[in-house]
Amino acid sequence: MTRPPALTDELLDRLRARVTASGQRSYAPVDVFTGGELATLPESTVDDVDAAVSTAAAAQQSWAKLDVAERLAVFDRFHTLLLDHREQIMDLVQAETGKARRDAFEEFCEPALVTAYYLRKASKLLRDKKKAGVLPFAVGATERRVPKGVVGIISPWNYPFALALGDLIPALIAGNAVVLKPDSQTALSPLYGAELLAQAGLPANLLQVVLGDGPTIGGAVVDASDYVGFTGSTRTGTEIAKRAGARLIGCSLELGGKNPLIVLDDADVPAAARIAARGCFANAGQLCLAIERIYVHDAIVDGFAAALVAEAEKLRLAAGYDYAADLGSLTSARAIETVSAHVDDARAKGATVLTGGHARPDLGPYFYTPTVLTDVTPEMLCHRAETFGPVVSLYSFGTDDDAVEQANDTGYGLNAGVIGRNVARATALARRLRAGTVNVNDTFASAFASTDAPMGGMGASGLGRRHGAEGLLRYTESQTVATQRVSIAAPAWLPHAGYTKVMATSLRLLRRARIR
Ligand code: NDP
Repeated sequence: MTRPPALTDELLDRLRARVTASGQRSYAPVDVFTGGELATLPESTVDDVDAAVSTAAAAQQSWAKLDVAERLAVFDRFHTLLLDHREQIMDLVQAETGKARRDAFEEFCEPALVTAYYLRKASKLLRDKKKAGVLPFAVGATERRVPKGVVGIISPWNYPFALALGDLIPALIAGNAVVLKPDSQTALSPLYGAELLAQAGLPANLLQVVLGDGPTIGGAVVDASDYVGFTGSTRTGTEIAKRAGARLIGCSLELGGKNPLIVLDDADVPAAARIAARGCFANAGQLCLAIERIYVHDAIVDGFAAALVAEAEKLRLAAGYDYAADLGSLTSARAIETVSAHVDDARAKGATVLTGGHARPDLGPYFYTPTVLTDVTPEMLCHRAETFGPVVSLYSFGTDDDAVEQANDTGYGLNAGVIGRNVARATALARRLRAGTVNVNDTFASAFASTDAPMGGMGASGLGRRHGAEGLLRYTESQTVATQRVSIAAPAWLPHAGYTKVMATSLRLLRRARIR
C-alpha cells in the first residue's frame, strides 16, 4: 500500500509550516493501513503554545470588530472549498485513521453541514437583543454576545477532520481566535482544514495549530485559553474540567458512551438488523455515538440475532483508498488491544461469540472482525465499559419498562436508538431514555446530522452541546447593557417607607398587567 494520492511532499511541507513549533523536535504518525511511518511532523513546546495563544489573541482583536456578515463571507468561500477538496480530505483521513472511504465521507459532511447551518443562523443568534428593563420606559436593557477571546480546541483521532473543524468553525464565527491541539496521530487532516480556511481568506494568525503529547501540550492549551472545547475520553475530559475549573474558564466536553439500542416487538426484523449493523460497525465502532448494547424483545430476539450476524458477516473488510471496503481498520495498537481485551475477557467469563471475535492481521496490523456477543454478564468488561470498536452485546427484554431500565443502567448518557413500526410508541419510549441524542428507527446519523438541534452527553458523557444555538453561543459571554432613562431610585423628598410602598404597588400593578 502506497501513500494516498493527496499526500504529496509539497503538501506535507505546507502542512508542516502551519504548526506553531520553534524547536527541532519531531515525531512520526503511523500509516495505519501498513503500520509504517506516514510522515514526520514538528512537535510544539509549552512556550510555543503560549506564543500561539498570544499571537492568536492579537489577531482576535480586529476579527471580533468585524460585522458577523464579514466574518461569514470567509465561511461561505470555505464551504465551497470543503466540497471541492473532499477527495484530498478523505485521502488524508484514511491514511491517518485507517478507516474505510465510505466512513471518511462523513468527515467533510459534518463541517459542511455546520458551516451551512451557521451561515444561515449566526447573524440572528449573535445579534444584540432588546430585553425588558426593570420598569418599562424607565430602563432599557440589551443582551449582547461577546466572544470569549482565544478558544482552545482539543480534538480526537476517530473523526479527526470532522470533530476539529466542526468545533472550531462556530468558535471563529462567534468572533474568537482558536488554538487547535489535534490528536498527535491524526494531525494531517486538521492541518489541511487550516490550509483551506487560509485559502478562504481567514486572517493570518487567527487559527493556530500546536502538536504534541496530550497532557503536556493539551494541558498548556487549557492553561492559556479563555474557553476549551474538548472531544475524547471521559478520563481526559475530567482532567480538563478540573484544570479549567481551577482557572474559572468554561469548557464543553463531548466524551464517551455505552450507547443502547432498543428493538421493539413490532420491528421489521431484517430492516432493524441492517440499521443496527450500521450503528454498531460504522467507523469500525470507533464512534462516540456507536451502539454497543442492543436490547431486543423476547419475541423476536432469536430472529434478530440471526439477521444481525448475517449483516455483520456481509461486511467487507479491506485496506484501500477506494470504496471497496465496508469496514476499515482500527486506528492504533492501543485500540486493537482494548477491543481484543474486552472480547477475550467476555469469552473467558462465559459469553458466546455469535460472529467475529478475532483480529485480521492478514489485512493490516489493526483490523478486527465485526463481533456480536451474547450471554454477556455484569462482571465482563464489555458490559459497562466503552469498547470503542466493532463489538456489540445482545440482550433481551420482556416489557417496555424493562427495556428502559436496562438501557438507562449506565453512567454514560450520550446516544441511544429505538426501532419499532409504531413510531408513536417508539418515540414515547425514546423520551424516557437518558441520553443527549435519541434516534427513532435509526442509530446516530439522524440526530447527529440534524445540526439545528443540539448534540452532546448527559452524565459521564460530558458537558455542553455542539450544533444548534448552543453550539455557537457556548463560545460567547452574554453581556447585559442596561440604560436608565428615568431615575428609578428613591427621590430625595420621599421617605424610604413611602418608596417601598410605591414600589410594592407598582410591582402589583405590573404583575396584574402581565408586564413584569
Ligand atoms: P484522550 O481523551 O486521551 O485523547 C483525546 C485528545 O486529548 C487527544 O488530542 C489527546 O492528545 C488529548 N489529551 C490527552 N490527554 C490530555 C490531557 N491530560 N490534557 C489535555 N489534552 C489531552 O483519548 P484516547 O485517544 O486516549 O482514547 C481513549 C478512549 O477514549 C477511546 O478508546 C474511547 O473510548 C474514548 N474516546 C472517545 C472519543 C469521542 O468521540 N467521544 C474520541 C476519542 C476517544 P494526544 O493523543 O496527542 O496525546
